[in-house]
Amino acid sequence: MTDSAHTPVHTEDEDYGLETPLAGHPEPLPHVVVVGGGFAGMATVKALKDAPVRITLIDRRVYNTFQPLLYQVATGGLNPGDVTYFLRGLRLKQKNVHVVHEHLVEADHQAKKIRLLNNHWISYDYLVVTAGVTTNFFGTPGAKEYAFPMYSRSQAMRIRDNLFIRLEKAAKSKRADDGLRVVVVGGGATGVEVAGALAELRTAGLAPAYPEIHGDAFEVKVVQRGGEILKAFAPKLRSYAAKELRHRGVSLHLGAGVAAVEREAVVLTDGTRIHADLTVWSAGVHPHEEVAKWGLPQDEYGRIKIGDDMQVEGLPGVFAAGDIAVSPSDLPQLAQPAIQGGALIGRNIEALLAGRPLGELRYVDKGTMAVIGRRAAIAEINLPGGRPLRLTKGTAWLVWLFVHIMSLVGPRNRVTTLAGLVTRYGFPFHRRPIPIVGDVPTVRPPKPGTSAG
Ligand SMILES: Cc1cc2nc3c(=O)[nH]c(=O)nc-3n(C[C@H](O)[C@H](O)[C@H](O)COP(=O)(O)OP(=O)(O)OC[C@H]3O[C@@H](n4cnc5c(N)ncnc54)[C@H](O)[C@@H]3O)c2cc1C
Repeated sequence: MTDSAHTPVHTEDEDYGLETPLAGHPEPLPHVVVVGGGFAGMATVKALKDAPVRITLIDRRVYNTFQPLLYQVATGGLNPGDVTYFLRGLRLKQKNVHVVHEHLVEADHQAKKIRLLNNHWISYDYLVVTAGVTTNFFGTPGAKEYAFPMYSRSQAMRIRDNLFIRLEKAAKSKRADDGLRVVVVGGGATGVEVAGALAELRTAGLAPAYPEIHGDAFEVKVVQRGGEILKAFAPKLRSYAAKELRHRGVSLHLGAGVAAVEREAVVLTDGTRIHADLTVWSAGVHPHEEVAKWGLPQDEYGRIKIGDDMQVEGLPGVFAAGDIAVSPSDLPQLAQPAIQGGALIGRNIEALLAGRPLGELRYVDKGTMAVIGRRAAIAEINLPGGRPLRLTKGTAWLVWLFVHIMSLVGPRNRVTTLAGLVTRYGFPFHRRPIPIVGDVPTVRPPKPGTSAG
């Protein structure tokens, strides 16, 4: 039984996305409904810019999030607005899209309709599901309660606030060992980038600002189940990254997973107990559980099964892309597969409209990169012909900076992010940049009648 059985349902079709038909089109234009305005959904919408369709883009958030730089928000390097883009801003350049701030609840593919949380049903001619994934705690006891995930803008800001709350507390404490011990769970690119940025924050930003806190009392540790960090990278790059992290005072706990997270500790599978004032969880993702209600075939991890033409298995006209989807080529859950898959969906919808055969995804793996800190990064770039170019140090850092700035949505975000990153990494101006401070509760006198304690 679906939850619609308990709630009144508006059966009439909402007029979402109804634009005046293009000149010369007497019929209402075909309706493309895109659920999720992330990398994949935005790519589909943009690919359909000049197509004779009306598009309804539905997202439960009002903005698109550039997740690869969320850790910069979490560690005081960037402002949240630098890495998010107002989805309705799309309308300034693309008039065939209508943006709706809602949440997909269920789908009836026989009737070609979806239901939103506001109980409106929307009919579609083509449905595109690009709703992404969410944090996977792998059922680890205490992880959901005590660890901080970093999948959204608000979660990144929560981490930043807690960093500063804890630092202020330590600065007021008389105990020499009171400080900030951060444990980062997961030694993939995200975990390494968070740890590197925290080390940067400590050395360049906070050491002078918090003379009360002894240097050793601000620790950063990475916990990784496998024997090495960054397993997606070449061995030479992995060992460079590990060396750089250690050089910057990050300790690596390799070869044991997390058995439990407690309020002030992380317990490893080998029994080690690590003191943690703040545990950042960057260990894995899985599709939202609600996907099961969307009437789509799923694999054992909950991902929607699609063909190489991006259509959902057994449902012509219904497409999926990005982290939520799995094709026969089983591409990694990264931005480029989402962008390339989303763009192909746009082209394939146009092909269906024109009666042409659908194209198949020929994924172009451009490479991968991770930043460790000031003038330190690793980059593996696939040159034409398949030869990899492996870069480290300042060169990789410059490539990383260029790629990230160019990938951001919107010119203002590119300018502010460039300014933020150049400031943070001290090139060529600030040697000791002042971090963007988190919110620490205001100190106020107690209200009359309440106890001060
Ligand atoms: C911290 C972090 C760092 C990362 N770093 C990198 C990196 O350096 N390089 C890289 O290539 N990849 C990186 N990734 C992965 C990359 O961000 C994802 O692969 C990419 O975002 C997938 O795009 P998507 O369109 O599938 O999903 P998303 O970009 O997640 O978009 C999904 C959208 O769907 C919306 N949505 C979800 N459920 C619903 C619903 N029921 N109804 C309506 N809307 C809904 C969400 O609000 C969201 O806007 C990182 C991810 C994270 C979390």
